Amino acid sequence: MNDRTVSERTAHWQALSRNHHLPPFTDYKQLNAKGSRIITRAEGIYLWDSDDNRILDGMAGLWCVNVGYGREELVQAATRQMRELPYYNLFFQTAHPPAIELAKAIADIAPEGMNHVFFTGSGSESNDTVLRMVRHYWATKGQPQKKVIIGRWNGYHGSTVAGVSLGGMKALHEQGDLPIPGIEHIDQPYWYGEGGDMSPDEFGIQVADQLEKKILELGEDKVAAFIAEPIQGAGGVIVPPETYWPRIREILAKYDILFISDEVICGFGRTGEWFGSQHYGMTPDLMPIAKGLTSGYIPMGGVIVRDEIVEVLNQGGEFYHGFTYSGHPVAAAVALENIRILRDEGIIARVKSETAPYLQKCWQTLADHPLVGEARGIGMVAALELVQDKQTRARFTGREAGMICREHCFRNGLIMRAVGDTMIISPPLVITPEQIDELMMLVRKCLDLTAADLHR
Ligand SMILES: *Cc1c(COP(=O)(O)O)cnc(C)c1O
Repeated sequence: MNDRTVSERTAHWQALSRNHHLPPFTDYKQLNAKGSRIITRAEGIYLWDSDDNRILDGMAGLWCVNVGYGREELVQAATRQMRELPYYNLFFQTAHPPAIELAKAIADIAPEGMNHVFFTGSGSESNDTVLRMVRHYWATKGQPQKKVIIGRWNGYHGSTVAGVSLGGMKALHEQGDLPIPGIEHIDQPYWYGEGGDMSPDEFGIQVADQLEKKILELGEDKVAAFIAEPIQGAGGVIVPPETYWPRIREILAKYDILFISDEVICGFGRTGEWFGSQHYGMTPDLMPIAKGLTSGYIPMGGVIVRDEIVEVLNQGGEFYHGFTYSGHPVAAAVALENIRILRDEGIIARVKSETAPYLQKCWQTLADHPLVGEARGIGMVAALELVQDKQTRARFTGREAGMICREHCFRNGLIMRAVGDTMIISPPLVITPEQIDELMMLVRKCLDLTAADLHR
């Protein structure tokens, strides 16, 4: 195809999009002024756009394409299942083999004592499920007043009403009069942004202790649960100080409240363990999952539930909750095959022993770059703080360093996401050491271009 038809094709799709499509998390006026980038195909860790540019996908789609693009086994699993039984529901005392077998496969990889799964269609639906399940659990136990769920400022738990409410993003709260009642927030363990003069360890303790203060302020008899991401993703890959999770663990042990580990990003290998809470030695009661569950090939989510909770739910009468597509057979077949690939190919073990240590070692070298105030990460997630002054951590004023950097990345064949002036990556878990070298070369190049722009 010659250049003219390629660019016409792009313009055609951009116009159709402008005229008919309302994409998620988008400033429509801003996007309409320039047009979407159209992604047309993908293979391994690479995407191609409608102008035939190859792009290294440093975000694994939206933190989800853990096994990489183009896995024929997943296509086959979906095709086989569509032929056999494309849909049936799980309401009204029916079930089908893919959902049941997937629940068993998840129980096999989940932490000890977490043997049941409630299926949903997404991470947001999983957190809606968590909110209702937790309140139903306490009500069944005869403590209906134990309703409040404590989340964290700048946490992300999805975009539905419960998801936004449990999350702590103020811009999201402002649209739609959220959070709903019965949800409280404490500070996030974001040392670089909010730790001031404290050491990371001191700061970790101080923010963790807010959980105990909040429980005492509200009354233990009112608090149902605490929800957190092991590592905040959408908030900017916030890796808590070493002291944070151990102190939270101590506090959770003292009070009779549930712990919800939102594993939508950290689950399915992102940290080098099956679940992020295992990386930190935490023992959750509920784990919302999605994203890496199917490597994003098809939508699916779920909540993994601890046995003690299931025992109570068994006494609670009908749980009036569920979705038409809960445990969708095609999604379940894909998830089963995805888990088989992650396990049988040793992908998570390789992340832990080889590729994540290599990525993190390379990533640390970026701390020397004049724009970079901090380079941090764990497993296959990492972040860079772009600053004007490395000493004072002062940001650039009047210019959006993150957006400038993101544009350079796109133009140079790399997807790296900007959260304000924090640049983040979360590549497919199958990225090889050679591809990590390529990623690093691109990141450095784009940081240099960004620095040149900002200092012009
Ligand atoms: C993406 C995400 C969600 C929401 O998942 P959706 O599938 O987009 O609804 C929830 N929690 C976390 C931690 C996420 O990263």
